[in-house]
Amino acid sequence: MQDFPLFQRAAIIGVGLIGGSLGWALRHGGLAGEVVGVEPDATTLDRARQRGLVDRVASEPGAGVAGADLVVVAVPVGSFGEVLAGIAPSIEAGALVTDVGSVKAPVQGEAERLLGEGPAFVGGHPIAGTEDSGVEAALGDLFRGALCVVTVTETTPHWALERLTALWQAVGSEVVTMAPREHDRVLAATSHLPHILAYALIQTFAALPERDPLERFAAGGFRDLTRIAGSDAVMWRDIALANRDPLLAMLDGYERQLRTLRRAIESGDGEALEAYFGEARAVRRRLSGRRQE
Ligand code: NAP
Repeated sequence: MQDFPLFQRAAIIGVGLIGGSLGWALRHGGLAGEVVGVEPDATTLDRARQRGLVDRVASEPGAGVAGADLVVVAVPVGSFGEVLAGIAPSIEAGALVTDVGSVKAPVQGEAERLLGEGPAFVGGHPIAGTEDSGVEAALGDLFRGALCVVTVTETTPHWALERLTALWQAVGSEVVTMAPREHDRVLAATSHLPHILAYALIQTFAALPERDPLERFAAGGFRDLTRIAGSDAVMWRDIALANRDPLLAMLDGYERQLRTLRRAIESGDGEALEAYFGEARAVRRRLSGRRQE
């Protein structure tokens, strides 16, 4: 049984969609005695306070994390190292430090390098979000009913894993533990490759000379498939670079599939196409059945 609040003071660095939503959930669930929002941008900080996402704000990172027993870094993956280096000397020994980034192995390495023996780092990745970003996009209850991956290594302290698990469960998420590299391989397939493909589909469409008249005909399927191309460019630049090797392996696999399809279409092989689509359809139906469960 965990005591509430779980944390006396939580500092959240980056009060955008994920950081702001977590601040809201910590405050409204009574999970932290105080939630401090930390960001360089004064307008963002004002909005975070007005929207009730945090109790207090700090524009100076060192001051923001002072006295916090929970530090959540919720910035784009490419800024994680720089942000952590800036706050590391001010983090209390014994604090739990975590992140919400979509790529885990590089973040884990940087945390181990920068934090040393004092605070404990356990990575986290809530599988929840929208294509919108920034403080205005933060939502109450974003994490309820979602999965959250918590990453473990051989050196993860048991108490830190327990506390982070308790946090994500308390905001309504189901926690799954994985090694950082395993997370990155799985997410390359289920999230990173689809985002790259959505961007490429939109670019294919955008390159057509007759784009304007075609826009009217970009119906359901196209819109469903490309919705995630509305996601933040900086965030996805950072994810693509940070998860380079697993993502390249997925792109290789996808290119092989495209070549198979291309050959069948070129040679007019209707039987091969029908078998290919039929198999894919069966897999897709199994997947949606599992999601409904
Ligand atoms: P976001 O809405 O853009 O929020 C990021 C926040 O971090 C912004 O408020 C940004 O401020 C701030 N920031 C950027 N650089 C900073 C720095 N150096 N110091 C302090 N604050 C800084 O992005 P998000 O969607 O919440 O994503 C945050 C993290 O969550 C990313 O690592 C992402 O991979 C992960 N994630 C995202 C989703 C999703 O669906 N969006 C889902 C799960 C995990 P400015 O706006 O002023 O730059």
